[in-house]
Amino acid sequence: MKIYLGEITDQETILDFTEDDDWIMQTIAGIDESRMTDKRTVDVQITLRKIDDFYMVGGRVKTTVNLLCSRCGIAYNHACDQTFSSLFSPDAELAGEPDLNHITGDSIDLSEVLAEQIRLQLPLQPLCRDDCKGICAHCGADLNRGARCSCETTQITNKQNPFASLADRNLRN
Ligand SMILES: [Zn+2]
Ligand SMILES: [Zn+2]
Repeated sequence: MKIYLGEITDQETILDFTEDDDWIMQTIAGIDESRMTDKRTVDVQITLRKIDDFYMVGGRVKTTVNLLCSRCGIAYNHACDQTFSSLFSPDAELAGEPDLNHITGDSIDLSEVLAEQIRLQLPLQPLCRDDCKGICAHCGADLNRGARCSCETTQITNKQNPFASLADRNLRN
């Protein structure tokens, strides 16, 4: 979804998009880590405005992204609700300025802006739920399902770990 710079004026323009807009659905599907099985709802509002020689693209995005839990590996729907605001400039002399996006052509790709903004807000360690117990590192049993594998009672203690004394030494130094 490209917006040509000539379409952006000093009058604020507000665009609304939903799950009925194909480009939005494709953009978010490109971020999913797993195939989304539930129906996705999307509420995106994008505001465009020219301020002096700068182009401001701001907005709000409310949707769900399908992520893989970092503890148990199961796909889950992560809720996103965030606002953003980005400044763009075609001025080559300003390329590389922090917090300023350089425009090389005559348009701004809203799909790229939206994808970047959603990615920025995703958790580094996604969790299907705050208290996800994960899977047993030894046998792979899903501990969320109340699975009690026999490994739970035989935890590796420092005494059994041949690297423990090495780690201790490093800590003291
Ligand atoms: Zn999990
Ligand atoms: Zn186990």
